[in-house]
Amino acid sequence: MPFGLAFSPEERDGVEPEVVPKPEELWDKYSTDAPARRQWCIGRSNLVKSLVTLVERYDINPKTTWTSAEYPFRQWSTMEADSMSAALSNIKAARVLKRSGLGAAILVALLFAYQATLAFPQPFFPHRVTYKHMTIYSRRELPRDIETILQKTDSLLSRSELYNPQTESRIFICDSNSLFWFYTGGLRHVFAVAFPHTTRYIFVPKADYERDLVLFERTGPGDKRERHLTSTLAHEIVHLYIFDCLGRKAEAALPDWIKEGYCEYIGQGDAIPPDEGIKHLLNGDGNIPGLFYFRSRRMMEVLMDSQGSSIQQVLSHPPNEAEVLEALMKTMKLNQTLH
Ligand SMILES: [Zn+2]
Repeated sequence: MPFGLAFSPEERDGVEPEVVPKPEELWDKYSTDAPARRQWCIGRSNLVKSLVTLVERYDINPKTTWTSAEYPFRQWSTMEADSMSAALSNIKAARVLKRSGLGAAILVALLFAYQATLAFPQPFFPHRVTYKHMTIYSRRELPRDIETILQKTDSLLSRSELYNPQTESRIFICDSNSLFWFYTGGLRHVFAVAFPHTTRYIFVPKADYERDLVLFERTGPGDKRERHLTSTLAHEIVHLYIFDCLGRKAEAALPDWIKEGYCEYIGQGDAIPPDEGIKHLLNGDGNIPGLFYFRSRRMMEVLMDSQGSSIQQVLSHPPNEAEVLEALMKTMKLNQTLH
């Protein structure tokens, strides 16, 4: 959305731009062990700084461009973040053009163009296949295997109590890490992302349909994560279900371990092999890519398979994380002694 046009008066709080959160502050406030969350913290903080630069340089009234005193970045829409991202990439050009008096107009035009591309990516993805409620868009022709992929995804989803065949999902396979970065407002090193709050689109960096794999930008040679495309798609679609079930506010407040844990539980995916995951958890290892998701899925198994909770119960009365983790650790230790 362009600056100053789309925020309602209640959303403006007149926060002065010098109050910029540092990544660590965001991290302290919203941290989980999820590496993707850490990346979002840093990304969002950088985007805020960009916006501030823009505000200061071009005399745009911060009261009409600022959205929240508390910086609840979890609740920031992608559009807000993307506006800031677009602002950053256009600062250089705008600086040159400012003297000629065209700067602001061109900046706004560029932001419009960027937002339009985000809102309607379909023309850039001319190939598509629809199966039931899912449409997959691609820049290159889709192979026949795609039907099997979508069928498998649907059968994973149908296990969920939240399964809704009316929920339309639009999935864009970018076939390029940079394009994925562009459409997701700067995300890297992730398997996929869904935007339930705004466009409801799902973006995937690249896919190997034959092997049912997501191809993504790794953090380095030590990053051994692998994920099936089917479980990744199911995971992202479950994010849409949770959002539809809870609404914006409650979804934002839901702890990440429940959100990601349930998406993983239905997607039946593991970014790291189970043996390794269990070993890391028992050792108390931290900072292992994919471990947060592994742990969250197992915690959800404790709740749903061992304790017989329904997802509606979990969503309406989120259980205590430490207690569920303790139960999980107990089960894992017991299994270890039995083996
Ligand atoms: Zn997720």
